[in-house]
Formats: sequence, C-alpha cells, structure tokens
Amino acid sequence: MVVRGSTVGGSPGRVSAGVAATAAVTPVAEIPGTGSNQPPASTFDTAPIVGIDEALRLDAAAQDDGSARAAQARAHEAAAEVLADRGDWRRAYQHLRAAMALVHLGDTPPVHVPEQLRREVDRLRRERAEAREQSRRDSLTATWNRRYLDERLSTLRDGGSGTVCVALVDVDHFKLVNDTYGHAIGDAVLRALVGLMRTEIDARVPDGFCARYGGEEFALVLPGPADADAVELCEAVRARIESHDWAAVAPELRVTASFGLACLSPDDEGGTCDGLLDHVDELLYVAKRTGRNAVAFRDEAGHVRLAGPAAGRRGVAAVARAVAGPARSGRPAH
Ligand code: GH3
Ligand code: MG
Ligand code: MG
Repeated sequence: MVVRGSTVGGSPGRVSAGVAATAAVTPVAEIPGTGSNQPPASTFDTAPIVGIDEALRLDAAAQDDGSARAAQARAHEAAAEVLADRGDWRRAYQHLRAAMALVHLGDTPPVHVPEQLRREVDRLRRERAEAREQSRRDSLTATWNRRYLDERLSTLRDGGSGTVCVALVDVDHFKLVNDTYGHAIGDAVLRALVGLMRTEIDARVPDGFCARYGGEEFALVLPGPADADAVELCEAVRARIESHDWAAVAPELRVTASFGLACLSPDDEGGTCDGLLDHVDELLYVAKRTGRNAVAFRDEAGHVRLAGPAAGRRGVAAVARAVAGPARSGRPAH
C-alpha cells in the first residue's frame, strides 16, 4: 500500500500554542469557576496571582527563619487550593512545588506540612490527569476526539518504530438518517457505531483506537499491522456495521459506512501523518463515488482497490484517476 504525503508538521503544536497564549494573559480574578475541563497548556505561566503573590513576595523579604518559611509554604499551599478550585491545575501545581521546596529547604520543617502537601500534590495530579483525559474525549460517543488523534498521530510519526495504518470512516447518507428518524436517533447510531468499531479493533489490534474525526466521520488508527491485515480488519468493521441489527434502534433503519485506508511505514521517506490523512481522504472519496459501503485502499502496485464484496465494482480506476487530478472540490453529491 502506498502513501503519498508531503505536508510537514501537524496541528497539535498550533492548538497548544493557542491555549498557552490564552492562559498567559488571564488574570486569576477572571478565571471562571470550576466549570472548565480544559487542562492548561504544558508550560507554567508567570502571571501574578493577585493578592497571593504580593503576600508571598512580602514573606520572602521577611526574616529567613523556619517560621517565615513555613508561613510562606502555607501561603503557597493556600494559593494552590484557590487555583485548583478554579481548575487552574498548572499554576496550582506550581505553587505546591514552591511550597514543598520551601519546606525541604529548612533545617527544622514543621512535620505536618510535607505529608499534607504530598497528599495535595497527589490529588492535583489525579484531577489533572482526569481533566486531561476528559478534554480528549468526544462528549457524544465517549470515544477519543480529534485532539487526541492529532497528538497520537504525531507521537506515532515521531516514534517512527513501525507501520501505522489509518482509516477514515464516513457514515453513508447519514443526513438521510437524521432527516428520516430525527437527530436523537442519529446520535444513537453514532454511539452504536463506535461500539461496533471498537469491538473489532480491540479484538485484533490492542494498540489501535477509534477517534471521532468530526460529524459522522471517524478515524481508526492501527499501529503495527501489515497492510493486508489492516484491509481485512477494516473490511470486517465495514461488514459488522452493515450486518448490525439497526432495526433495534429504529424500525427499518439500515446503516452502512465507507472507508479510505492507507498505511505509513518507516520506509516511506518524507511521509507524514498529515500526508497520510490527505491520502486516506482521497481513498474515502473513491469508496463514496463508486457506490459507498466499501473499503478503498491501494495495492502493492499502487492501484486503488475496493475490499471484500465491493472488489468487482466497475469504474474504480477512473474515479481514482479523477481524484488524483487537480480539481476535486469535496465529497460526491448524492
Ligand atoms: P455521504 O454518504 O456522502 O457521506 O452522505 P451524508 O449524508 O452522510 O453526508 P453529509 O455530509 O451530507 O451529511 C452529514 C450529516 O451528519 C449532516 C449532519 O447533520 C450530520 N451530523 C454531523 N454530526 C452529527 C451529530 O453529532 N449527530 C447527528 N445526529 N448528526 C450529525
Ligand atoms: Mg461526512
Ligand atoms: Mg456521511
């Protein structure tokens, strides 16, 4: 299977930069209450913490004895509490570390403080990990979201240790499902679909995962398998979706999905995950344009093929040539 990719870099860097810039200019007084699940960016900012920072500065200037340090540590701890309550884990953690450093600096630190701080640090670490996980989950289906997908793809690319295959899955005529049965049934279909895809992936590629790419599109990321195995897996997922008892969700409901699949191996020099996704998107277009409900991929010779029962469909090569041409302005019309 061949991959053509040329775009260097990915979106995670841009996302992180945006979050960091926002956090750096937000005074603590304006930080909303506990509602935010978004963990801050990965670097600590140095914006002053109104009131608390001033107190700490005064403390620092005070006489450098054990009690001054203990008071200063308690002030840091209090600051950490306030910031943690506001969901500002990054700065809370910064203050806790400062507090612990102060306590360890002293010859005769108050015994109760380190233990208490350790517990606080553990709690904050746990909460931060939970918030981090939440921010990478799709709220409708609970599967991973685009942010997680971007991060994992860039890690897999940078790791460069093995083949990674990616499929884009797009529900066929999903607008019709919504129009016929309503948005709530459409949502139920997406949730069930994720369950079906995950069942198949978990059984065959334990390191693989499913992420919502957007709307009714999902990415299946399969690190490790040979190209042929990835085709077989995607065909199995496609067949599972097609044969599922959708009538249990809504009377006479039928659901199918189309797939584009490609792999990036360490031998593909210059290949990137951005390039891989572009290529997969083209293949998905071929699957759509040649009748939907099929998995499109390139064989060893670079020819676009459809897997399984769709293999015999006509016109695949012609559509693939058109896709590779200069003008394609989107997915096929109905
Ligand atoms: P095709 O086979 O060409 O992919 O056709 P389609 O109807 O699936 O594609 P189209 O892009 O025309 O429509 C996608 C629809 O998916 C439109 C949009 O309302 C629906 N959709 C996107 N996200 C959600 C969601 O979270 N819930 C529901 N119920 N519908 C969604
Ligand atoms: Mg779509
Ligand atoms: Mg669709």
